[in-house]
Amino acid sequence: SIVVTGATGHLGRHVVEQLLEKVPAGQITAVVRDEAKAADLAARGVKLAVADYNAPETFGSVFAAGDKVLLISGSEVGNDRPGQHQVVIDAAKAAGAALLAYTSAPGSLTAALADDHRATEKALLASGLPYVLLRNGWYHENYTENLAPVLEHNAVVAAAGEGRVSSASRADYAAAAVAVLTGEGHENQTYELGGDVAWSFAEYAGELSAQTGKEIGYNAVPAEVLVGILTGAGAPEPFAQILAGVDESIAKGELEVTSGDLSRLIGRPTTPLSEAVAGALKG
Ligand code: NDP
Repeated sequence: SIVVTGATGHLGRHVVEQLLEKVPAGQITAVVRDEAKAADLAARGVKLAVADYNAPETFGSVFAAGDKVLLISGSEVGNDRPGQHQVVIDAAKAAGAALLAYTSAPGSLTAALADDHRATEKALLASGLPYVLLRNGWYHENYTENLAPVLEHNAVVAAAGEGRVSSASRADYAAAAVAVLTGEGHENQTYELGGDVAWSFAEYAGELSAQTGKEIGYNAVPAEVLVGILTGAGAPEPFAQILAGVDESIAKGELEVTSGDLSRLIGRPTTPLSEAVAGALKG
């Protein structure tokens, strides 16, 4: 089987949807925390396994020998994600999985957010399982799903300086995962995944201006100012620090990906940022 964790998350849903176009539903297992959230998948013939990264015993019978596993990194930042991911690695190893692909972060990323991913990569390599590191760059959606304050103030506020981001859509990264899960010859490969075109925040503001007909500028602020703005808007301080840390990495060019791995794996150009902006503005 092909087994996908985090299957009811945003990325996981794209992965399962695209897998359904390539393999029979009965060959796909969706690992979910909440069965009710996956009722639509079950109705289409996808097998469900209910398991939680925080409860090792729930992973006892999820995997079988020969399975190809996609471990989608957890979203509970600060809740020992390396420990959570170890639970999945151990269970896949014990079952004799044929492959474990992990959604990681770009190798160049030094921001604190990358620490959990580096730790998980290390654990995966130490496990001896055949692995694939899908080092996903940033999602378009990190920006296009958070347009409300931008449109309210007619300003893109970031601490990224002149840095550029090679973002791509979640659907693009999902397509790369599907290529790895359904294709051959990906064992022990590391892919640096990002969009074909890197953009600066000034260019992003320009794109928003062009598509809305409004004058939207880029307000580049220092990291500590961004933290103040985010906490002032109600974000918890640790979360604001993480976002500011990512922006500092962007300023240093750490989220620019030039490998071409993503478009090569999916066999087409990546989705342009303009398309994601247009989709978000349509609602
Ligand atoms: P989502 O938050 O939509 O999905 C996270 C998934 O992880 C959900 O399916 C969630 O289950 C599952 N999950 C979280 N905690 C547990 C747990 N304890 N046990 C089992 N499952 C768990 O994120 P996305 O799909 O958008 O992104 C996937 C991952 O990529 C994120 O979790 C994060 O690690 C990373 N990410 C990457 C970004 C990028 O730009 N590259 C941006 C943001 C995140 P449930 O459906 O039950 O909630």
